[in-house]
Amino acid sequence: MTFNKIEQLMISFDEALNIVSGIDERVKTENVDFRNSCKRILAEDIVSDIEMPPFDKSAVDGYACRKADILNELEVIEVIPAGKAPEKEVGKNQCSKIMTGAPVPKGADAVMMVEDVKELSGKKIKYHKEKLKENICFKGEDIKKGEVVIKQGTQIKPQHIAIMATAGCVMPRVYRKIKVAVISTGDELVEPDIKPAMSQIRNSNAYQLLAQAISTGAEGEYIGIAMDTEESLRNIISKAFDHADIVLLTGGVSMGDFDYVPQILSELGVDLKFKSIAVQPGRPTLFGTKGTQYVFGLPGNPVSSFVQFELLVKPLIYKLSGCDYQPLNLKIPIGVNYSRKRSDRLSIVPAMIQNNGEVLPLEYHGSAHINSLTEAQGLIFIPIGQTMIKNGDIVDVRLI
Ligand code: AMP
Ligand code: MG
Repeated sequence: MTFNKIEQLMISFDEALNIVSGIDERVKTENVDFRNSCKRILAEDIVSDIEMPPFDKSAVDGYACRKADILNELEVIEVIPAGKAPEKEVGKNQCSKIMTGAPVPKGADAVMMVEDVKELSGKKIKYHKEKLKENICFKGEDIKKGEVVIKQGTQIKPQHIAIMATAGCVMPRVYRKIKVAVISTGDELVEPDIKPAMSQIRNSNAYQLLAQAISTGAEGEYIGIAMDTEESLRNIISKAFDHADIVLLTGGVSMGDFDYVPQILSELGVDLKFKSIAVQPGRPTLFGTKGTQYVFGLPGNPVSSFVQFELLVKPLIYKLSGCDYQPLNLKIPIGVNYSRKRSDRLSIVPAMIQNNGEVLPLEYHGSAHINSLTEAQGLIFIPIGQTMIKNGDIVDVRLI
């Protein structure tokens, strides 16, 4: 669609999300050292090459014995540290002192906890309780050999690293990182290390977006600030398209006299899919495709661009990385009365979740109110047509 045709078009948020979710590309895969694989998306199932535990293992420090003998005095025939194979079989009225993680000796079917045992003279012990739990982790009870322990499409977290280590999967196959290039636009912007003069504002958006991209596991590249001129925009956007999978622009997408972004993108061969969404904050949000490269024009205001990254950019990053991204949406009661004047857009309100399970909207003066997000744990979705929410009503909250 050309820039002119879509100029006036405002679509619903669901339509926008459908368009972005309709992208069905995946980037290539590569093998990485599992130690450096956190946040990568698995391109294969992880299968264990051993059983876990690999042998019947003591779960406690204590005495391995026969359950049938627990009321008797027992003779200690061996000490078994972790990492050592038992040498003796436990017979009637015998036991072996055993450490947590050591293999349970033949003949024993339970382990008395050391705390429940009295040591007598002459290498004898006596259990001082009447019942005995097994206290054994049995061979293969957690993982069978050949079992899928982590599924393809999973984003690797620290707990998966332990599973891969256990399963002997040291070079998992993952999707390559998505390259996200970030451009700020606006003559008023200066970099954060400069004290803004009158009429200037610090470039906060670019760095927020880079941090958001990196926290999904993508690679972020900062391209720079484009001036509000056609030439500057053309140069810097072309540069971003050199190797990015996704180009993120902030600002310059609204209806101002110098908002050239849609026009320049169109000239550079981008197929614009939408330019405006019935959502608040974030109405001037643009999306386009250029072959297998994608571009979002996000609003200049930092709260809007943060929210639209969460709602639209994140799902695309995950999609291209082979991950079936399912954001966590809760239905929970709101803890105050909430009202808004207009209801012609889906409203997204930064919110905090209380210990009692209620959600509270945070003070929010509008899309430039940058510190409204500092304590936000979620975003409340207020549908089109709804102006009033009563204390205790159930609302939709996306965790962030
Ligand atoms: P625009 O979409 O270009 O009209 O910008 C909307 C508002 O966001 C204006 O007040 C801009 O000054 C502000 N803004 C634009 N880009 C940034 C940025 N990178 N960092 C912080 N604020 C910005
Ligand atoms: Mg601008």
